[in-house]
Amino acid sequence: MTNESPIVARSVAAMRKEVEEWRRAGDVVGVVPTMGALHNGHLALLQAAKSECDRVIATIFVNPAQFAANEDLDAYPRGEAADLAKLQELQTDMAFMPDAGEMYPDGFVTKVRVEGITEILCGLVRPVHFGGVATVVSKLFNQSQADRAYFGEKDYQQFLVVRRMARDLDIPIDVVPVPTVREADGLAMSSRNVYLSIEQRAAAPALYRVIRDVAARVTNGTSAEAAVAWGLEELATCGFDSIEYLEVLEAEMLGPIDFPNKPGRVFVAAHLGSTRLIDNVAV
Ligand code: AMP
Repeated sequence: MTNESPIVARSVAAMRKEVEEWRRAGDVVGVVPTMGALHNGHLALLQAAKSECDRVIATIFVNPAQFAANEDLDAYPRGEAADLAKLQELQTDMAFMPDAGEMYPDGFVTKVRVEGITEILCGLVRPVHFGGVATVVSKLFNQSQADRAYFGEKDYQQFLVVRRMARDLDIPIDVVPVPTVREADGLAMSSRNVYLSIEQRAAAPALYRVIRDVAARVTNGTSAEAAVAWGLEELATCGFDSIEYLEVLEAEMLGPIDFPNKPGRVFVAAHLGSTRLIDNVAV
């Protein structure tokens, strides 16, 4: 590790050159894919990677392919200098920061599609999203040649999709989940939290409180339907404008809940004004 961390690679070739040397030295390489605007949630992923790997690559790429035309691609928060300062503080070995032309050169036509688990929850409202994620992450896995990849449970469905994709495509990488990092009041940290007004920010922690309560009810024997019905009412009372979904599902393939035989998970997506918040907890 030099003091000049991180090495900034903007091309696949530059990243590969460095990684090849690391691998020749026998180093275990970890990769943490992000869209930047790094917060403590991302930092937890980087710390987990650092504790288990010899070399850590943070990738920062706001991936146009996972945003639909009506979504917040242009408004998405970006801050390269602040991100690099955080990576330096954590002594991350490399920041891979390609532009869209490097990731999707002229003539690019390949898409990775994961079926089933992408067609519910966030996939219903964001039909473009997981195809874009699976495509870019499979590229990042191939480009980085990493041994381990770290994903946040905050985006639990994304973690499942990525792990499934890597297994199905025989990409030799371990996909490791990292628990959600929260603000002191329970709100899951997210780059999109900056969109919230003061009033919305005050209402937002109810999301976590309600799904925890739904999980507790199911654990205590209440039916998933009854727990969800209670949760929907509670969220509306707390000021959520529209609730996209509140569901209790089996935690691996997102089938019907089969608690206590199999682990379950409560998933929610809801809006405060135009800001969409998601969260989930284990049952
Ligand atoms: P993003 O930059 O939002 O695409 O997120 C990059 C990675 O950080 C994904 O694996 C996310 O699940 C993870 N992540 C985002 N927020 C959190 C959080 N609050 N706690 C843990 N991981 C997170």
